[in-house]
Amino acid sequence: MMATMDRLDRAGAGPGRLWLATRAAATTVAIGFGLAAMSKPDTVGVGARLLIVLALGAGLLAARRLPANRTLAVVGGVVAVTAAWLLPQRDDVAAAVILAVLFALGAGIAVEPPPPSRSTQLGLLAGLIAMFALRFTVSQKTLLIVVVCVVAAATAATVAGRFPTRRPRRGRAVVFGTVLVATMLVFTGYVGAETPGATWFGGGTVHGPVDTGEVALTFDDGPNLGATRKIMAILDAHDVKGTFFEVGKAIDADPQITRALYDDGHLLGNHSYNHDQWRWLDPRYPELQRTQDAFRRAIGTCPVLYRPPHGDRTPFLAQVVRDHHMRMVLWSASAGDWATNDSRLVARRILAGAHPGAILLLHDGLDGNPSANRDVLVKALPLILQGLRDKGLSAVRLDRLLGTGDYQSC
Ligand SMILES: [Zn+2]
Repeated sequence: MMATMDRLDRAGAGPGRLWLATRAAATTVAIGFGLAAMSKPDTVGVGARLLIVLALGAGLLAARRLPANRTLAVVGGVVAVTAAWLLPQRDDVAAAVILAVLFALGAGIAVEPPPPSRSTQLGLLAGLIAMFALRFTVSQKTLLIVVVCVVAAATAATVAGRFPTRRPRRGRAVVFGTVLVATMLVFTGYVGAETPGATWFGGGTVHGPVDTGEVALTFDDGPNLGATRKIMAILDAHDVKGTFFEVGKAIDADPQITRALYDDGHLLGNHSYNHDQWRWLDPRYPELQRTQDAFRRAIGTCPVLYRPPHGDRTPFLAQVVRDHHMRMVLWSASAGDWATNDSRLVARRILAGAHPGAILLLHDGLDGNPSANRDVLVKALPLILQGLRDKGLSAVRLDRLLGTGDYQSC
C-alpha cells in the first residue's frame, strides 16, 4: 500500500493525493465511529459528552504540533478506533474522558494535514450520518447530540487547519507512537478487566433471557452478622429466593449463617476468599478453591457460580473458573449500595435497572467484613420487592434465571 502510494507520488499523480484521500476517509470513519459511540444515549452524562467533544478539538489542535509520518497516522487511526470501541462499554465519567483524550490524540494524528479541504469536512459529516444510521435508532435527543457533535467536529477541523504546523524531529515520532500505543494497550487491559459488560477479556454472564418476566436478586460480600438473617427473613416473607455470593473469610467467621441460607433454599455462590484489591491478578487464583473449601466445611457441597470482587478478572482467572467447572456471573444493574445510606435511592437505582432478565447487584455485606453495617439494604429491600411486583417481575434464583446448575460435589 505504502509502496504503491510512493510510486504514485513519484509518478506525479498529485502530492500523495491517494494517500490523503485514504487518510481522510479512514479518519472520517474513526471520528464518526468515535462520536457515535460517545453519543450513545445514557452511557455518559451530558457534561462528560461536552468534555469529550472538547477533548476531540484539543486532540486535533495538539496533533498539529505532534510528529507526523504515515506509520504514525496508521497508529493514530488504530488508537482512535480502539478508544471508540471501548468507550461505550464504560459508564463512568473518568474512563470516558481518558478514552476521549486517547481517541482525540489518535484521530488528531491520523487526520488529514493542512489545509483541511471541504471534502474532509463533508466526509466527516457523511461518516457521522453513516455511523448513526448503522448503529442507532435516532431519537430526538440523539439527533440533537449528533448535530452538536457534527458542528463541534467541523469547527475543530477548521480551526485546526488555521494553526501553523511545527513538526518535531523524526526520532520523536517513534517515541510518541510507542507511548501512545503502550497507553492504549494498558487502558484496553483495564477496561477488559474492570467492565462487567466486556466479555472479550475473560467475561461472564451479565444478563438472563429477556422473555420470561424474571429477574435475579443477588447479594454480595456476606455473610454479615447483622444483616444477612434479616434479609433472609424479608425475602421469605415475600416468598422470594435470592442468590448470595459469599466471601470465604466471612463464611469461616460464622458458618451458621451460610448453613441457614442453604437450608432455607437460597442459592450460594463463590465471591473469593479475601475480597481484596490485588489477589485477582494472581494467574493461579487460589482464592477460588479456598472459598470452595469454606463452603464444603459449612454446607457439605460447593457452588457452581462465581462472581469476581468488583468484577475484576483476567483471562487467567477466567480459565481457573472454567477448570473448576464453574460459571462466572457479573450483573446488569448495580445500586451502588455500598456508598450510600439512602435506602430509597438504592431502591430507585435497582428498580431503574429491573427489566426482564436483569441480574441485580446488592450487598448484604461489605468486602467480607462480617460486622459491617448494612441497615441501608435491610430498609431498601421491601421497597425493591414491592417495586418488582408493581413492574410485574418475579425474582428468582440465578440458577433458574440462567438455566444452570446450582451445586457440585467437592
Ligand atoms: Zn464484592
